Amino acid sequence: MLELPGFYTLPPPQRDQLLIEAVLEQHEWHYPRNVAYRRHCENRSVGAHITEGDFTRVLRPTAQTFKSYVGELGTAFPQDCPADFARWVAEEISVAVPPERWAGLRPRYSSLEGLLSALEALFAAEGWRIATSSGTSGRASIMVRDEETFSLALDSFFLGIQHAWGIDLDYRLIFVMPEQTRIAMAQAARFGTEKLGYTARGQVAYTVPFPASPDVIRIRTARTLRPGIRGWLERHIAAPFMNWMGEHVAMPRSIRGTVDVLRQSAAAGEKIMLFGGPIQLHGVALALRRDGGLDLPLGCLVGTGGGMKEAYDHSYAEIRRDIASILRSGGQPIRIRDVYGMAEANWGSFECSEGHYHLPPWLYALALDSADEVIAAPDAEGVLAFFDPFGGGKLFPPFFKTTDRVHLINGGRWYDPARACPCGEPTAYIEAGSIARADLFDESGCAGQV
Ligand SMILES: [Zn+2]
Repeated sequence: MLELPGFYTLPPPQRDQLLIEAVLEQHEWHYPRNVAYRRHCENRSVGAHITEGDFTRVLRPTAQTFKSYVGELGTAFPQDCPADFARWVAEEISVAVPPERWAGLRPRYSSLEGLLSALEALFAAEGWRIATSSGTSGRASIMVRDEETFSLALDSFFLGIQHAWGIDLDYRLIFVMPEQTRIAMAQAARFGTEKLGYTARGQVAYTVPFPASPDVIRIRTARTLRPGIRGWLERHIAAPFMNWMGEHVAMPRSIRGTVDVLRQSAAAGEKIMLFGGPIQLHGVALALRRDGGLDLPLGCLVGTGGGMKEAYDHSYAEIRRDIASILRSGGQPIRIRDVYGMAEANWGSFECSEGHYHLPPWLYALALDSADEVIAAPDAEGVLAFFDPFGGGKLFPPFFKTTDRVHLINGGRWYDPARACPCGEPTAYIEAGSIARADLFDESGCAGQV
């Protein structure tokens, strides 16, 4: 099987053919093994063998697939019924788990974090890592990844960061995120930096000083609360307290910590990548402005992720303008780039110098029209769907329809050299400013931000 970096040098027609064949093969592999996927296919009259014409029918919605436990268990709190949740997990994955493997689960857990940690401990030999979407609705997507799938996700993210942004092993990486969290993008940051040795070399900082468990995120947003007295306490005591602490303790401490690390890096002449949610990064920039900004060495970069999930006085464009006017790299306004991704995806899409978001070359991406049919053209405006047959691992079929409307160029097998991005990268890309997330506040499956 071709390794991910090899896809960067494959000519597009050959690459797209390889991807199509791999999707067909993966379907045949998952179909007999994955109960939930097979049920989805049977409902659409799709059998064990498919052709390219069936591609749209095997896609499952990111917004529902790994959130379907809520409907099946009849509760948004799987910690109350671990055995039922285990049955749901077993149906979602393409490996058979003997029933006795679940026997170590307790009858209930006091938190979702407790349950997910227990599952990771039970399946430590398989290298399970469980991520969640940011869960602003309180009903998070829950994604189980095994060692292979998780390792591919880390390779995919860090290859993208290196390839698109030139961030190599010399850089210091500063994440305005908590180190302890299951939010997919932050989890990838933490384990990816460990895998690549940044952590061992002391080149990583996380500047949000408090852990963010799925329970904390759920309570803070106060949209899905426990029934009865517990829910009353969550709404009237815990949520206001957590939000007060966030605003008056965690955020100021995080900003101060980030400013300190940035100043150290500037003094030491270290190249840095600063990464976080736009609102948090804006806070950092405004704090630096009081002292006249900051000059960093040449090659530094600010990466934003997660979008704008909270109400905020400034637009994303204003935030970028402010950051660029305050932080300099080699005497110029610092480069600012965004990343688009979601908890269900094993990849990130990185903004290039032209403002476009390039999809990784090992991804087969399509835009769908309102009838869920493929828009068979190099210039397509529709709902983004993707197949990740090389980078998605084998624990579940990585074939998804997102809820995001995009303007996709050179997707599918409709590569047109005349429409290639002026930045020189011969991959499918989403046009600058064209991503319309269906409903950020009901999280279509968004990563990145607390
Ligand atoms: Zn480009």
